[in-house]
Amino acid sequence: MTQSQGKHIAVIGAGIVGVSTAAALLQEGHRVTVIDPASPGGPHAASYGNGAFISPASILPMSQPGLWRKVPRMLADPRGALTIRWRDLPALMPWLVRFLWAGATQDKVSRTARALSDLLADAPQRHVDLAARAGLSCMIVRNGLLYAFRERAEYEADAFGWRLRRDNGVAMAEIAGEALRRAAPALDPAYRFGILIKDGAHCTDPGGYVDGLATWQIAQGVVLRRDRVIGFDLSEGRLRGLRCADGDVACEMAVIAAGMASAPLAASLGDPVPLAAERGYHVELSNAPITLDIPIMPQDGKMANVSTRGGLRAAGQVEIAAPDAPPNWTRVEILFEHLKQSYPALAGATFSQAARWQGNRPSTPDGKPVIGRSTRSGDVVYAFGHGHIGLASAPMTAALVADLVAGRQPVRDLTSFAPTRFSLRQRETR
Ligand SMILES: Cc1cc2nc3c(=O)[nH]c(=O)nc-3n(C[C@H](O)[C@H](O)[C@H](O)COP(=O)(O)OP(=O)(O)OC[C@H]3O[C@@H](n4cnc5c(N)ncnc54)[C@H](O)[C@@H]3O)c2cc1C
Repeated sequence: MTQSQGKHIAVIGAGIVGVSTAAALLQEGHRVTVIDPASPGGPHAASYGNGAFISPASILPMSQPGLWRKVPRMLADPRGALTIRWRDLPALMPWLVRFLWAGATQDKVSRTARALSDLLADAPQRHVDLAARAGLSCMIVRNGLLYAFRERAEYEADAFGWRLRRDNGVAMAEIAGEALRRAAPALDPAYRFGILIKDGAHCTDPGGYVDGLATWQIAQGVVLRRDRVIGFDLSEGRLRGLRCADGDVACEMAVIAAGMASAPLAASLGDPVPLAAERGYHVELSNAPITLDIPIMPQDGKMANVSTRGGLRAAGQVEIAAPDAPPNWTRVEILFEHLKQSYPALAGATFSQAARWQGNRPSTPDGKPVIGRSTRSGDVVYAFGHGHIGLASAPMTAALVADLVAGRQPVRDLTSFAPTRFSLRQRETR
């Protein structure tokens, strides 16, 4: 045990990022308290209802060159896969401008892809290892992931994105005809081309996985405190404890992994991070007549289709809106319609048979999470803003946080994840 081990560390938030981080800190011999006002893995959190994809291919940010030209259409088409809520537009404008700028050129997107590849390249193996430690191996399945296209031309139309994935070492295979039918027998034959992400994995129950990891950690000595963190007790740059709604918690270090709620906590420490809710939805059919051995992402619907413990799930849609805006359940109907169109066996399914969910992806404008030390105190480490890739990238994030806590050189370069990258002074020096 090195000198830096054996600290008391508070992890703020028990979503997938928080519990993965707690697992890494536990492994290093630290005393860990996880603080969350809600139950780990509950439907309040993004980690509950996501698409369950653990994909090394998820390295492309949402913002791409030319997206700005599509904004008027996005505002006008309430049934598109990507929309902006009109009435939230003024408040979201500063984030949106940064979002469009972050993906303005191929060069910018290439750099983001390189950085995200650092977090995702070995994500499936990291989840396999984490799940095995916690006795949850059955929840991570490594059968690959399939991106399905109606025509090969649709794939070729995004040659830049697929080249970036290939250049970043994602193992992919083209699949068509009989081979595609065998890999995805339930898929409508109108999908004639696919890309198989050979190393991809999925989680059979994202919420249950978080809950299982938390339960296992408690058995290992992690304390789970049901409370809301509201501030930090700092003295001359050193952390003395956390202020919580129900009282104070003394600790030597803290990790902010509170998803969407992380931004105000970081701002109180002098790091204003622009975080917006890219809201998403899922629909889940408990009695679906089909099971997908390999999860599928039909590219026209831009949704993750996966057989979970709860049934056949379609997760997706990007609705940029205030995080507390009421859910727009029309978006779930859109997912449901896509699901029926993609799998002929679902033709007779009715919407009343489906469970629905809405959650907030905690998204930075550049599509990269914030991983690094707080400006005001090196005792506070940030691990938030994982947007579309929080499930997949949680174990690597946790490893990087453990490195920072130990004072080691992180196993990956953290420059592109720095919290200070959004500050004016930083951007001027680039
Ligand atoms: C529709 C959809 C599909 C997605 N699909 C995928 C996918 O296929 N693969 C993938 O990798 N990612 C996917 N994602 C993204 C992924 O779900 C998120 O990035 C990830 O869940 C974020 O995890 P988190 O732990 O940061 O946040 P959360 O899961 O939101 O957890 C944050 C926790 O912090 C707690 N908290 C909040 N405030 C405080 C406070 N003040 N004090 C203490 N605790 C607090 C909350 O109660 C909550 O439990 C998807 C997201 C959506 C919405």
